[in-house]
Amino acid sequence: MSFETLGLSAELLRAIADKGYSQPSPIQLQAIPPVLEGHDIMATAQTGTGKTAGFTLPLLQRLSETNPASGKRPVRALILTPTRELAAQVAESVDTYGKHLSLKSAVIFGGVKINPQIQKLRNGVDILVATPGRLLDHVSQRTVDLSQVEILVLDEADRMLDMGFIRDIRKILASLPAQSHRQNLMFSATFSGEIRKLADGLLDSPVVIEVARRNTAAESVDQVVHMVDRDRKRELLSHMIGSQNWKQVLVFTRTKHGANRLAQQLERDGLPAAAIHGNKSQGARTRALADFKKGQVRVLVATDIAARGLDISQLPHVVNFELPNVPEDYVHRIGRTGRAGNEGEAVSLVCVDEHKLLRDIERLIKREIPRIALSGYEPDPSIRAEPIQKRRAPQRNGRGNNGSNAGRRGNGANNGRGKRPQSGNRAANDNQRRRAS
Ligand code: AMP
Repeated sequence: MSFETLGLSAELLRAIADKGYSQPSPIQLQAIPPVLEGHDIMATAQTGTGKTAGFTLPLLQRLSETNPASGKRPVRALILTPTRELAAQVAESVDTYGKHLSLKSAVIFGGVKINPQIQKLRNGVDILVATPGRLLDHVSQRTVDLSQVEILVLDEADRMLDMGFIRDIRKILASLPAQSHRQNLMFSATFSGEIRKLADGLLDSPVVIEVARRNTAAESVDQVVHMVDRDRKRELLSHMIGSQNWKQVLVFTRTKHGANRLAQQLERDGLPAAAIHGNKSQGARTRALADFKKGQVRVLVATDIAARGLDISQLPHVVNFELPNVPEDYVHRIGRTGRAGNEGEAVSLVCVDEHKLLRDIERLIKREIPRIALSGYEPDPSIRAEPIQKRRAPQRNGRGNNGSNAGRRGNGANNGRGKRPQSGNRAANDNQRRRAS
């Protein structure tokens, strides 16, 4: 089945050809026709399946078929994403696929100045990509008008709930036209009871699409575990990168501090490396990602939330320098490789402290990950397990702070918010969420 048979316009087919896609991915095959017909959809799709084009292409087509009212362009499509990086990437896709159309788009997220965003919104945009916290800032300052939104997309809805955005989302929904007056598209990697509840209130007789089983680790990813002593992980990682001549590798650590330290150590080993996490400014994060994509940085060290939504096409290697505390994050992490039909390899460096985490992951993905012992790096059997420093569970309920996306707030980002009466806990939770977006 080709893109031509899906009913997409010549302008979009040209953009797809420019991008070099020859065939629609399964989610695109299933999502594009019903979205073009105006249906609501609820899609359970893993990251890396091509879901962004699955909603962006038909959304662009629908908007381009009707002319906006003359005068200032109203926001007619709103795409909500959980993280800044994902927002930036979705916005890039909107630009890429819409390059032969005359629609205007903008992306807004926290951690950067609000004034340029206000200016852009003032000039009028058809498509707005946003994270919930900063969007609410604009709503409360009345610098955005969402009353004419025709299409709403909730991307990575499960992650937005995990990050505690549900109240923000409900407030945003309240500033949109009534549910029956807009098309609603919801994408989620998992389909929990909470997601179902959100979907029930949001979607009208949705077409339900499922392209990957829940929590199934991507089939195209080769997964291996290297058992190694905790103090020799860095040495082994440098050895693997050097001896196997890896050019582009994404490495996960559990903490911001660990990410910084590892990036510095790798640099000292002669491997160009950068760390991305929430304590870095948005500019530094964007720069690190751009350098990584260009191949100037060979190793990108990231924490879980900072890495969420990263789309680096054909990323060949993902390394878990430390296993995540939450088994589902393993699936998200390795989803960074083997994307859209490419082969990928996910290597986990596991020390004696992490055996339980490994068992939890294997239980979740329902398979045993092959162990490889690299000669010279076999673990010393006399080393005892030590408890992993207990950190609050990352972002499961919006309270924990694994710190990976807690970026700075931009100027004026708190306008209109300080007045709200909030209980201590709630205020703290809100602050946490705002930082994340
Ligand atoms: P996504 O799941 O939307 O993050 O997309 C994952 C990656 O797949 C991105 O790098 C896209 O550019 C790429 N992609 C999307 N659709 C296709 C397609 N039909 N053929 C090849 N690559 C694609």
